[in-house]
Amino acid sequence: MTQMILIVEDEPKLAEVLRDYLRHAGFKTFWIVSGSAAVPWVQEHAPALILLDLMLPERNGLEICRDIRTFSSVPIIMITARIEEIDRLQGLESGADDYICKPFSPREMVARVRAVLRRTEVASSFPPVGLTLDQSRYQATLNGYDLDLTAVEFNLLKFLSSKTGQVCTRQQLMDSIYPDERIVADRTIDSHIKKLRKKIALGSSDAEFIHSVYGVGYKFERRDGSVGLSGREVEVP
Ligand code: CA
Repeated sequence: MTQMILIVEDEPKLAEVLRDYLRHAGFKTFWIVSGSAAVPWVQEHAPALILLDLMLPERNGLEICRDIRTFSSVPIIMITARIEEIDRLQGLESGADDYICKPFSPREMVARVRAVLRRTEVASSFPPVGLTLDQSRYQATLNGYDLDLTAVEFNLLKFLSSKTGQVCTRQQLMDSIYPDERIVADRTIDSHIKKLRKKIALGSSDAEFIHSVYGVGYKFERRDGSVGLSGREVEVP
């Protein structure tokens, strides 16, 4: 099936170049000029990926990205005109999967699109391979091993694993386990995560799943322990 890439860009010449290169690379494309039309279109159409310009008339890319994240984890690559913007955007937790700075080569753009699609396709299978979640019994099973979780830990694991590969902020995690908006300290989440990690470790000694993202929150992603800190270059003698 041909994948559809949505281009949200107010500069017609740039949009045309993006469209041509993406089509040549085998993608379908749809081009939207105005910031206000982007979110309703995504709600209707579910594109495979969005190239989102930061500076748009009516609504900026950051607002659009945040809005889309409330209902979709579609991969988003943000296009910005200034390299300094990228640090700021990453700090703002915009929810984008990648950033490209203008001017960029269209070839690089296509390569980034492919890389993000590959990454998110692997990451987004839910529940992730090896994990089953039975909501009626609050029972999570990892590689055939029943995890002995509390209801809060189960909901935390369910939420984190549904966002596999994405960073979840502590606030998002709190909202996921306490929908009644009670005030909970950050360290409450940290302590739930700590317990959850220990229990997961009992069911999977060779891989880690929950990773801290400094200053932001946590990310669920399978990382095999055998890879080790020194990476894949290690050679077995
Ligand atoms: Ca623009």
